[in-house]
Amino acid sequence: MSTTNLFINGEWTSAVEGGPRDILNPANNQTIATVADGSARDAELAIHAARKAFDEGLWPRMRAAERASYLFKLADAIDARAQEFAVLETRNNGKPLREAKFDAADAAGCFRYYAGLITKPQGQTFEVPDPNITTMVVREPIGVCGQIIPWNYPLLMAAWKLAPGLAAGNCCILKPAEATPLTAIKLFELIAQTGFPPGSAQLVLGPGPAVGQALAASPLVDKVAFTGGTATGRKIQEAATGNLKKLTLELGGKSPNIVFADADFEVALEYAMFGIYAGQGEVCSAGSRLLLQKSLADRFLPRLAEASNKIIVGDGLDPMTEMGPLITRNHLERVTSYIEVGKAEGAEVLCGGQRLTAGKLREGNFLAPTVFVKTHPQMRIVREEIFGPVLSVQLFEDEAEAVRLANDTIYGLAGGVFTSDVAKGLRVLQKLRAGITWLNTYHPTFNEAPWGGYKQSGTGRELGTYGLEAYLETKQININLNPQRLGWFSRM
Ligand code: NDP
Repeated sequence: MSTTNLFINGEWTSAVEGGPRDILNPANNQTIATVADGSARDAELAIHAARKAFDEGLWPRMRAAERASYLFKLADAIDARAQEFAVLETRNNGKPLREAKFDAADAAGCFRYYAGLITKPQGQTFEVPDPNITTMVVREPIGVCGQIIPWNYPLLMAAWKLAPGLAAGNCCILKPAEATPLTAIKLFELIAQTGFPPGSAQLVLGPGPAVGQALAASPLVDKVAFTGGTATGRKIQEAATGNLKKLTLELGGKSPNIVFADADFEVALEYAMFGIYAGQGEVCSAGSRLLLQKSLADRFLPRLAEASNKIIVGDGLDPMTEMGPLITRNHLERVTSYIEVGKAEGAEVLCGGQRLTAGKLREGNFLAPTVFVKTHPQMRIVREEIFGPVLSVQLFEDEAEAVRLANDTIYGLAGGVFTSDVAKGLRVLQKLRAGITWLNTYHPTFNEAPWGGYKQSGTGRELGTYGLEAYLETKQININLNPQRLGWFSRM
């Protein structure tokens, strides 16, 4: 791959300064590509191009149906290359191929969803007290949008940001995570082929503290949409105060997955595992706290340990693999340091707890699926986002205690409940202080439904009609149908 992989003002370009960056496969830490490594100066170039494209260009002035036609073409192009996207995602991010295939299909679906939505009626008219005035409300794009995404769903997060942003008529600048730019580059190859007008969709690679910070701080940027850790979200919010830009922050979580004794045992067991081990646990909505009714613990926990130990961990490209490597060696070390913290705090490792290094696994960033028991609510492994395949089990007596423990967190992204009593399940979901909740399932995510968190899990929503709202301004237009002198000033 060449190192001219910044896409600015409709052209592929290299970085103004700074050397190329090697991109590694987390399954073996071998270099799979070398890409341009941009800086704040490249961000500035993209911001100026986007500003010009928004203020003077075609994209925001196109009819919605025409913009939609670009998005439909892009969706079809992603579908046509879904397998290539999935393989590239697995090589760059590590996730099992079957998960990467879901991401590719979902990404195409996201562009298609917003292409459809933007052509649907959006305005309103009002009857106001003055009979001469007709009032209407129209929706307009916000302007230049900086979009900063993490490494856990590189293609899908690009779609979640670009699809509604572009559909609404904004000019967008995407900044992928340093570790995982490859599927975003491929997506922009399709954007270039589709012929989006220059400056409407741009790609800037490079480190977050340089490129991301420049997007967040620039007075020429009207909105920033960010997905990532809560600490970084806070920095972005601070940087964005200069021009009070609009913000969407999708941040971390420590989500409870609550299993009552009356749940279908096998279903709850598999979802408890899926909730934490899907995406190697590097998922903002991971069910990283299993809240288990005490009376079930003696039966549930041995099965959880046994089944966790049987998970096939390996290179995501191997069709047998059920869980892949962690994103980088540094992140592996961060996650394993949490395992040491858990032990030091007095929690007990039920299973896992160590790196996997047999044979070829030694080259990669593999960690055994890990479950902690005998936790208490003040432990760091219960309170902090670990972002790996590490589950903390908390036991509860009754419904009230389940709700109390579930909400005892600074986060509020997601939560699940497993029970055969639907009324009880709904009661508990209604009491969860979280933006995404599931009854008798965990993790399904739909382009049609809003995604985002309460509390320190973020602000604003993506996806669904709410996700489009977040990229639109609202303007009232008042039309006087009977213009006459006001008579306000006596000496005119
Ligand atoms: P970050 O939140 O730092 O990274 C997310 C994105 O933000 C990346 O594109 C990153 O760029 C960028 N970024 C980093 N610093 C800044 C900044 N100062 N201004 C603007 N953008 C910035 O995640 P990390 O990779 O550092 O992971 C740290 C922890 O965050 C994880 O262990 C996990 O707990 C959490 N996290 C949560 C995610 C979620 O979806 N909830 C996703 C990812 C991480 P770059 O990577 O290029 O430096």
